Amino acid sequence: MSETSKPTDDSGEMLDPLPKGESYRFACHQGVRCFTDCCRDLHLVLTPYDVLRVKRGLAMDSTAFLDRHTVQDTDPTWQIPVVKLKMEDSAARSCPFVTPEGCRIYADRPGACRAYPLGRAVRRSPSPSDPTRVEEEHFLVREPHCFGFEEGELWTAEAWMEDQGLGAYNEMNDLWMEFLSRYRPGSREDLAPAKWKMFFLACYSLDRFREFVFGTRFLSLFSIREARQEEMRRSDEALLRFAYTWLAYSLFGDPVLELRESPA
Ligand code: SF4
Ligand code: SF4
Repeated sequence: MSETSKPTDDSGEMLDPLPKGESYRFACHQGVRCFTDCCRDLHLVLTPYDVLRVKRGLAMDSTAFLDRHTVQDTDPTWQIPVVKLKMEDSAARSCPFVTPEGCRIYADRPGACRAYPLGRAVRRSPSPSDPTRVEEEHFLVREPHCFGFEEGELWTAEAWMEDQGLGAYNEMNDLWMEFLSRYRPGSREDLAPAKWKMFFLACYSLDRFREFVFGTRFLSLFSIREARQEEMRRSDEALLRFAYTWLAYSLFGDPVLELRESPA
């Protein structure tokens, strides 16, 4: 593929397709001359799972985390609420989590930080034997300021994703993308203010969503198996999965929840 026919991302950077099985050389460590240069002046949109992981890693309440570390915006394509990591208010606009030694939330860093320089595009491709099957394609983001391509091991996309702990991120973010696919531009309706608020609560403000589910009459109105309730109490991930179910029911009218015949 010629240079000029390469796809570009939103920022105009070159994206190189990475066919399955092909590899690239890459390393990122304290010895690389650009170390942490990329952790500034970012427009880093956080997925709901990113928010879950970072706020949990910081042992922060979701409202406190969102207030302190994010800015709210509207996705121009999907017209839904999105949150972006708030950069420091300084000339460098550094990420609040970068230190001279690297990322201080490394174990829970956002999916985009983990995956870099690898990009992943997925599309649903259901088959009779696997209705949830997705097909994925990978590409490399080659930015001139990144010298990580000059050294290190050879990585396939699969090996890189495993090394960077992306399995849980891909699984949760694929659910998110599947949910978002309901909002295809042109086929969606604008979210009314109350629905907008609920969307934000369920996707990003997980601690408030937990209060909504467990601290109101919610469970007396909806029939949800005890085992699922227990899992949602124990696991943030289970609660976030349920948030998508709830939004599919409350925003789209999908028949994925049952009202109790008479409230408990
Ligand atoms: S620019 Fe590339 S090599 Fe340098 S710190 Fe960032 S990811 Fe690592
Ligand atoms: S979260 Fe960590 S890896 Fe991501 S930009 Fe901030 S410091 Fe860098």
